Amino acid sequence: MKRILMLATGGTIACEPSEDGLVPRLSGGAMLAFLGETSLPCEIEVRELMNLDSSNLQPDDWETMARAVAESCEDYDGFVITHGTDTLAYTAAALHQMLKNLAKPVIITGAQLPLAAPGSDGPRNLRDAFFVACEGVPGVYVVFHGAVIDGGRAKKMHTESFAAYASVNAPLARITARGVRWKERRPVPVEPLELVTGLERMVCVLKLVPGTSPRLLDMLVDAGYRGVIIEGFGAGGVPNDGRGSFLPSIRRAVEKGVTIVCASQCVFDGVDLSRYPIGVLAARLGAISGGDKTVETLTVRLMQALRHCGSAEEVREAMERPV
Ligand code: ASP
Repeated sequence: MKRILMLATGGTIACEPSEDGLVPRLSGGAMLAFLGETSLPCEIEVRELMNLDSSNLQPDDWETMARAVAESCEDYDGFVITHGTDTLAYTAAALHQMLKNLAKPVIITGAQLPLAAPGSDGPRNLRDAFFVACEGVPGVYVVFHGAVIDGGRAKKMHTESFAAYASVNAPLARITARGVRWKERRPVPVEPLELVTGLERMVCVLKLVPGTSPRLLDMLVDAGYRGVIIEGFGAGGVPNDGRGSFLPSIRRAVEKGVTIVCASQCVFDGVDLSRYPIGVLAARLGAISGGDKTVETLTVRLMQALRHCGSAEEVREAMERPV
């Protein structure tokens, strides 16, 4: 029998109704009771880390989750983390990056409806998560509505549909009646597990709309932000003509040592700064392409790079490294 540690953190899956709306209250043990007689190929132990709406999670909480996995990694065959769906993709990206050389599966799941609600997707997602954890494929994965998504590639696309997550720019695996159809199985790393903590909090995302003033970027730099992800349009890049060019503000930011990353408001396919002058000129000034990564992954990656890298060149290398 495999031994799986369930780490409960809250979210709708653990919610009960209250006067103020849904509040996460179920204990991990109570959540397991919703699996009923389902026979799972594992023994489960439960640890409650927190019971929060995931919109209230902070980067410190990612570290708490990563530490809980790292400290028990030798003792279990895998981990299931129950989590709110709203910021689950950030947590998945964070754990994917913090747990370097992870040799065990860490499966994050949640639900669109509380476990006790009629027709809830919670029992299925939770059961699937344990099944995937028992497969033994190392790495951090999001399991939701029959999909298995790489932790660095997940994005919440729907607030209500049960198929809430997309796998961005990477194939997903599917849970079928005959088990999990993996697209590729990560090999077990030979190096020992390394817990990489330390995140720079002065990182933010600046989402552009037509007409956004470049003064906003100046203000972020003056407020002490050390990294700004500019979520621009299409293939990336920033306005560059006389009526609102971002180029002087990017030059100023880079000269002050602030990292600028260009991301896209499009979910799929990624950034190509070489395609138009809006990208080429920004890149010439030192803006880094977000490539095909999600904004969630870019955010965590930048937080980590700014804390761990010694030079702007090292930050660039870290940002450009594949997911
Ligand atoms: N607000 C909830 C949360 O993220 C939503 C959910 O879990 O579906 O905690």
